[in-house]
Amino acid sequence: MVVWVCDIQLGKLARLLRMVGEDVCYTNRENPVQILKWIKEEGRTLVTRSRGWIGKKLAEPQLVLSSEKLEEQLKEFLEKTGLEISFKKFFTRCLECGALLQEVEKATIKDRVFPYTYQTQKKFYICPACNKVYWAGTHKERMEKKLEKILNKAKPR
Ligand SMILES: [Zn+2]
Repeated sequence: MVVWVCDIQLGKLARLLRMVGEDVCYTNRENPVQILKWIKEEGRTLVTRSRGWIGKKLAEPQLVLSSEKLEEQLKEFLEKTGLEISFKKFFTRCLECGALLQEVEKATIKDRVFPYTYQTQKKFYICPACNKVYWAGTHKERMEKKLEKILNKAKPR
């Protein structure tokens, strides 16, 4: 399994990849030490737009993207990695920290969501790392539509 680390310029792509279930580390601060640690200790591949990493042996392996737009970055990423996106893996990870979500008993999160959400949703998930609560609902549908649109654009011609 390949796992990724996106650098500071690729925050949106990092979120998008988490959305489709990929294991992505990301820091929104300039933090080369942390990034090198992820590469060396966790065997991750650096995904970057920064020319600064090119040729730096310490930062290998790396995948350099040239696109500036999110859709094109995703397209470039899929072309270069050959990764196939599966909707089965969609919505399995926390968008904030990338940990795998766990389904929880509905009653345990009652105080943490709006009553309407509690009444209308069946399944709830929690991030074991940052404790954020997720549910599918309209949010998921909206994200799926958005993602489909991006993926259609992103399909290699
Ligand atoms: Zn989290």
